[in-house]
Amino acid sequence: MRRIDADAGPRARAEAVLAGLDDEQRAAAQAVSGPVCILAGAGTGKTRTITHRIAYGVHTGVFVPEQVLAVTFTARAAGELRARLAGLGVGGVQARTFHAAAMRQLRYFAPRVLGGPMPGLVENKLRLVAAAASRSRLTTDRTSLRDLAGEIEWAKTTLATPEDYPARARAAGREPPFEAAAVAAVYGSYESAKQRDGVLDFEDLLLVTAYALEEHPDVARQVRGQYRHFVVDEYQDVNPLQQRLLDAWLGGRAEVCVVGDPNQTIYSFTGADPDYLLGFADRYPDAQVVKLERDYRSTPQVVGLANRLIGQAPRRRGLPGLRLLGQRAQGPEPRFAEHPDEPAEAAAVAARCRALVDGGTPAAEIAVLFRINAQSEVYENALAGAGVPYVLRGGERFFERPEVREAVVLLRGAAAGGNEPGMLVPAVRDVLASTGWVEHRPPPGGAARDRWQSLAALVDLAVDLVAENPQLDLAGFVAHLAERADAQHAPTVQGVTLASMHAAKGLEWDVVFVVGLVDGVVPIAQSLSRPEAVEEERRLLYVAVTRAREQLALSWSLARNPGAKRTRPRSRFLTGLAPESAPTAPPARRAGKRGKVVLEGEAGELFERLRAWRSQAAQSASVPAYVVFTDATLQAIAETRPATLRELSGLPGVGARKLELYGEDVLATVGS
Ligand code: ATP
Ligand code: MG
Repeated sequence: MRRIDADAGPRARAEAVLAGLDDEQRAAAQAVSGPVCILAGAGTGKTRTITHRIAYGVHTGVFVPEQVLAVTFTARAAGELRARLAGLGVGGVQARTFHAAAMRQLRYFAPRVLGGPMPGLVENKLRLVAAAASRSRLTTDRTSLRDLAGEIEWAKTTLATPEDYPARARAAGREPPFEAAAVAAVYGSYESAKQRDGVLDFEDLLLVTAYALEEHPDVARQVRGQYRHFVVDEYQDVNPLQQRLLDAWLGGRAEVCVVGDPNQTIYSFTGADPDYLLGFADRYPDAQVVKLERDYRSTPQVVGLANRLIGQAPRRRGLPGLRLLGQRAQGPEPRFAEHPDEPAEAAAVAARCRALVDGGTPAAEIAVLFRINAQSEVYENALAGAGVPYVLRGGERFFERPEVREAVVLLRGAAAGGNEPGMLVPAVRDVLASTGWVEHRPPPGGAARDRWQSLAALVDLAVDLVAENPQLDLAGFVAHLAERADAQHAPTVQGVTLASMHAAKGLEWDVVFVVGLVDGVVPIAQSLSRPEAVEEERRLLYVAVTRAREQLALSWSLARNPGAKRTRPRSRFLTGLAPESAPTAPPARRAGKRGKVVLEGEAGELFERLRAWRSQAAQSASVPAYVVFTDATLQAIAETRPATLRELSGLPGVGARKLELYGEDVLATVGS
């Protein structure tokens, strides 16, 4: 990240902020007053532009940092915004999710608006919905309960009351698990139960906050006096309830900047509506509208695949085509692989991760993305088996992990005992060591390793912070941790990210594996009866593939379990992207006769090409073939397909000398 020198004058800092942008981005960043809308594809620098715009506004004195509220949709994305702002030398700006922002405000205003302290939040919606359903004498199971809760959420985010629900659901083509009238009854009874218990659910938080602003002029005056500039990232996924809150915050003012990509709308099933983004310029006729086309994130190969994928979607009326132009240097072609079953698919991904990490790719620069969280487990097992560290969904609940809570308590205790500035990192290590944690020695597998990694992440964070501020002491570190915990901003844990495609929105990694691409999973089975739901699934895959900076691998397996019939068709979205007759059998290892290694499919074919190259190389150097490379090394190369010398050097049997003699040739053979 480009860091802005804190000692430079404000003018110089403002100029430095602009220097990191292209012409269109710069125009948007300089438009610090009045409505602004950035409508652009993945990786074009929307998030970068809004953070630079905020920094530019602050450095030029147009924005007071504390008066800027930047909102987005996930805690992780809010953390990303804060991190980028900090890198630009801007502190004090509020970057939060809609929920977190509403929660903070409501907590403050609850006594005035609700006549008492902040009510409790509904921890488990399903339990309340189940009780309401049984009052309505409905027989439910897990699935229908979840669907019922989904309908209630949809109704609330689209501002439909129980009375409105039947007509609205029909118009929206919803397929509720029970008759619409019955769903409406459960919804009504769920609401009364909440009121009786004096608790709020997530949607209520937003609704009550909006209501407080709309109905209490003194609250409105105070909040609107505090926040004068609004920024919304990922605005394509705003729902009517969030929009109502945003309007309440604005109170008729037009100091708002929204950015989004209609092709990345992935929450319309839960009530999000990209028309707020597309209609922004109609609502604010003097809006500055900026389009960005250059994709700075991904190689032309990744961009090409993303363009082909979204190009197959039916064009929405009135929607500008947002084709991306890749700006980065050429990279490897995206890979496709078919596997017999899910454990084999996971094993192949894990083996490749292992090779990448051994070759020098930081584990935190790799992600494995899947459609549903249940798919995570087989990858957790495979990565653990391959000795590759991983983190689940970036560890959003990091600060709630017991080991982290314990560590924070101990650190706070140590800080109270006083400490020397300049000694933060050793002090943190000491405190953690008192819990039995041993640096550089992650225990094998499971919960123990997770625990070790959480604590290691705290040390890494201390190291990073000291690099920025060498004088930071334990007390400062503890204060920083409290701030991050409040904002749910987890530190980077060194590990391969395992995340759902939804959770990956807005983020990026050097290497991305998109796995489990079979019809019925992507697109998901429930979507198949409704074309618009299938299109949402396509956009979800688009979000997933556009997370990759350099390497992208897509895979699927013909059966779920080993030994089962291999009947699952690969995802329909791959048509036109992947080779038609997927020749890609598993690059898995099978012991052949007499223990000889047999490789199948693509890996086998590459293995044969590598052998052919080896016999030539051996001949011209007049040495036996095994002196060039052993079969085992060729096998490792065929399985992992290294793309760079660094990756190649991580494989067994590839020393510095061999790398120099044969490295380029091997890469050429792999790439041919
Ligand atoms: P998404 O739609 O996926 O959220 P985005 O439009 O928000 O993507 P960013 O995350 O802001 O895109 O940018 C993608 C990557 O490209 C980032 O690593 C960013 O730093 C880089 N980038 C964007 N613009 C530029 C630029 N002008 N020069 C150099 N790098 C850039
Ligand atoms: Mg973004």
